[in-house]
Amino acid sequence: MTRAYNFGAGPAVMPEAVIEEAKANLLDYQGTGLGVMEMSHRGKPYMEIQEQAGARIRKLLGADDAWELLWLTGGASTQFAMVPMNLGAKPADYVVTGTWSEKALAEANKLGEGRAAGSSQATNFDRIPKQLELSAGASFVHITSNNTIYGTQFREAPVVDAPLVCDASSDILSRPLDMARYGLIYAGAQKNLGPAGVTLVLIRKELLERSPKTLPTMLNYQTHAKKDSAYNTPPTFPIYMVGLVAKWIEAQGGLAAMERRNAAQAEKLYACIDAHDLYLGHAQPADRSHMNVVFNLAEPEREGAFLAQAAERRLLGLKGHRSVGGIRASIYNAMPDAGVDALVAFMNEFAAS
Ligand SMILES: *Cc1c(COP(=O)(O)O)cnc(C)c1O
Repeated sequence: MTRAYNFGAGPAVMPEAVIEEAKANLLDYQGTGLGVMEMSHRGKPYMEIQEQAGARIRKLLGADDAWELLWLTGGASTQFAMVPMNLGAKPADYVVTGTWSEKALAEANKLGEGRAAGSSQATNFDRIPKQLELSAGASFVHITSNNTIYGTQFREAPVVDAPLVCDASSDILSRPLDMARYGLIYAGAQKNLGPAGVTLVLIRKELLERSPKTLPTMLNYQTHAKKDSAYNTPPTFPIYMVGLVAKWIEAQGGLAAMERRNAAQAEKLYACIDAHDLYLGHAQPADRSHMNVVFNLAEPEREGAFLAQAAERRLLGLKGHRSVGGIRASIYNAMPDAGVDALVAFMNEFAAS
């Protein structure tokens, strides 16, 4: 078996050691006689899995008892609506840094009043807006920490008065976070946390008090907080996998070690882009993402050959999102250094050919 290097944006590469561990537990989870996908979500073995996964994430991020950790479904896209539904949006400020924040803002506008407090749309989202025009009395301020499509990333979270809400779908657990700056963090799992099917939400307990009682039960954060995310059947297998990924991150040295590795991998790729006239990086250097490296070819007619020759070397998933075109190399936590080295070697050869 030869596994390819998967540069796809999501669902994305997972650590091989995690897949191996899961494989061993598919048929018989630790001698219970039941596979990990087949166990009741109310039974002790599964409840321990979920609790441990949550505890590991809390420990990695430093999310103490002031925080509620929820395992939800519906993807980050459902959070675009749940956030303004539960926190109120009268008004709410959004930093618009790409397609995902535009979608989040559109949901806020269905439910209240969303405002763009800053936007980099005029330059095709090649940067993070630095000057924000915040509303007095905003219900919250929303950012997208890493812009999966355009390849930009906040180096650090802005300091704001209103609770800061962060869509961290594509960079959660890629670096340590200063939790004191945040009010709510959410992330679909399928980029940096595990398989598709579960959405992690961390919310300050004091913010739970805002949820209106009139909300549909499943869309109210309080429902899930009161029932330890088991009001209905949680996505048990994805949660198990996220727990294994968190354990793997611990073994790598935690978030500081992940940050160092991610930065080093990103640096190698951006250095290669900057060294060749053929490659044009999309993001402004100061705002370059350490997760999604987005670039175009100065000779766009060679893009097809680039992708085909990369695929011959088992470098897969490199086609850019349709809104920017070009190439996107997603290098989440689980991307091994050897994958980045193989891509850089290929890019050097291709540029010289
Ligand atoms: C992928 C992505 C989403 C959409 O996630 P779903 O789980 O498919 O709803 C939202 N925000 C960001 C930043 C993403 O990368």
